Amino acid sequence: MSSAQHFDLLVVGPGSGGLASAFRAAKHGAKVGLIEGGALGGTCVNVGCVPKKAMWYAAEVAEQLGLAQRYGFDVAPGPLDWSHFVSQREAYIDRVHQSYHRRLAEAGITRIAGRGKLLSPRTVAVCDDTYEADHIILATGARPTHLNVEGSELAVDSDGFFALTSQPRRVALIGSGYIAVELAGVFAALGSEVTIVARGGRLLSHFDRELGMELGEHLAGHGIGVLTGARTERLFRDDDGICVQFEGGEHVGAFDCVIQAIGRQPNSDELGLEHTAVKTDATGMVIVDQWQNTGEAGIYALGDLTGPVALTPVAIVQGRKLADRLFAGATGARFEPGCVPTVVFSHPPVATVGVTEDEAVEAHGPEAVQTYRSRFKPMQWSLAGEDSQSFMKMICVGAEQRVIGLHLLGPGVDEMMQGFAVAIKMGATKADFDATVAIHPTSSEEIVLFG
Ligand SMILES: Cc1cc2nc3c(=O)[nH]c(=O)nc-3n(C[C@H](O)[C@H](O)[C@H](O)COP(=O)(O)OP(=O)(O)OC[C@H]3O[C@@H](n4cnc5c(N)ncnc54)[C@H](O)[C@@H]3O)c2cc1C
Repeated sequence: MSSAQHFDLLVVGPGSGGLASAFRAAKHGAKVGLIEGGALGGTCVNVGCVPKKAMWYAAEVAEQLGLAQRYGFDVAPGPLDWSHFVSQREAYIDRVHQSYHRRLAEAGITRIAGRGKLLSPRTVAVCDDTYEADHIILATGARPTHLNVEGSELAVDSDGFFALTSQPRRVALIGSGYIAVELAGVFAALGSEVTIVARGGRLLSHFDRELGMELGEHLAGHGIGVLTGARTERLFRDDDGICVQFEGGEHVGAFDCVIQAIGRQPNSDELGLEHTAVKTDATGMVIVDQWQNTGEAGIYALGDLTGPVALTPVAIVQGRKLADRLFAGATGARFEPGCVPTVVFSHPPVATVGVTEDEAVEAHGPEAVQTYRSRFKPMQWSLAGEDSQSFMKMICVGAEQRVIGLHLLGPGVDEMMQGFAVAIKMGATKADFDATVAIHPTSSEEIVLFG
């Protein structure tokens, strides 16, 4: 091994959180090394948010074509040239990579290719070289969890979804979380026959209960098979394709593609944590305090490696705040959990911020919690003769009716939530919402017109 190069900060992992902390630390004048064990941008840019949103856009266009036809336009939704669109998607991602290449060079960040492994609390090995640093940030993210059943090799995971070069005709999604429902929506809008195989009783079990129920009904009403309480026991191939067998022996299929989206597990197992005092929980998540400190002074962790809120903007804020604290003397800088807005890019999308009704009742008691709901037919659907409804739910607490949760499902809610999240974070009450003049005719006006 050559002698160790020394940095103020070594960042292990070039994803959302790693890049954010590296850029911010370099801006504060730190000498930064970035260890790249995967493509620049990590999960989000390569096999997550970005390619997923690209596929969602394609699916949205397909839905709009269907709507256009029903409005009377002389168009018919045709098949998507999947490989053509995938090449456009990948070209977009290439441009993101190029932008990171340029920005890293401009920031003077040293790029180190390979997977990092801690040798000691201040030393990281990458291939045959070693690097030392005063501070080390672990930002190695997570990877898809795989089914532990016979025949699981017949299924691909979300990474495999992005590797598809043609559109499968019949698809099963095993899972009920946001990735499963998002991919199901993409396939269905683009014309595949889709079945969701969910182990639990409803979709989106980590979200407000009514959102998951409403979404399940909406998807079922639009031809997606939604099987709940279906525990996968085995996958097997017959003459026609891949089948999914449940506990009890029943099976569904055949499918041309089975995608498992049953969760993600942190990339903590090959990090050499045993050479440090960094601890993980039973699921492998690195344990950190509210400042991203691990059990080892000088080693920090963030993003999906630490859970439980696995979202790109969360990893970014954690990384930036940590760099501000370490290199700009911002002693109070840290990520503030709670009130994190997020969108599920299903068809239609779901947007949520704050607590669920169940969480509110548990925290404050049933007497203190007030819930407001609205169901209505969005004009763009109604014009096409569609009966489907949007769903909106506001959760308030206390005599002042502070808004602590907002849960939306319907066209446009993906772009609607961000502004409301600001108001809710600032402590807005229902009276503040009521006192805001509605924008008419829109779907978002429902949120200031709850009864
Ligand atoms: C299908 C899908 C869709 C998603 N959609 C959204 C969305 O719409 N919105 C949203 O906010 N979030 C979304 N996410 C989640 C989001 O991608 C993650 O929360 C985010 O990428 C986490 O960032 P991170 O920096 O913690 O880890 P990552 O982005 O995963 O980056 C970690 C990087 O570290 C590398 N690495 C691993 N081990 C080592 C090592 N030993 N040495 C060096 N490098 C290593 C990995 O290869 C990877 O490049 C989605 C995720 C998936 C899978």
